[in-house]
Amino acid sequence: MSTERAEPVPTRQLVGDALACPRCGQPGLLTARYPHAWYGRTGQVIRGFKEAVLCAVCDRGEAAAEDVIALVDTQGQIGPENPELFLRCAVSWIDHARGREPDIAVLADEEQCWRSGEL
Ligand SMILES: [Zn+2]
Repeated sequence: MSTERAEPVPTRQLVGDALACPRCGQPGLLTARYPHAWYGRTGQVIRGFKEAVLCAVCDRGEAAAEDVIALVDTQGQIGPENPELFLRCAVSWIDHARGREPDIAVLADEEQCWRSGEL
């Protein structure tokens, strides 16, 4: 019988359930939900949440997203050696995602489709 203690085997960690990408419909790698506020018609502050989905396809080429994509495998897991790096990269990506503005032309097209009954 050995007196050596077995070291725990590092395992990969699931970074969380992700929604499908709203742009391409493929499974997302990560979903961030963060507080958001806007002004209503009467000027009152309305508080809620926004979500951003990290997509390995649609977010390619965006530096903050690429840093996170490099750490998450296709099953949405990160290796045991990267939790701190993952956290820093994810916070950076969320900061970037929070600054995104909607594409007004895409919204107008979707509104037109909705009004015409195509959606
Ligand atoms: Zn996508």
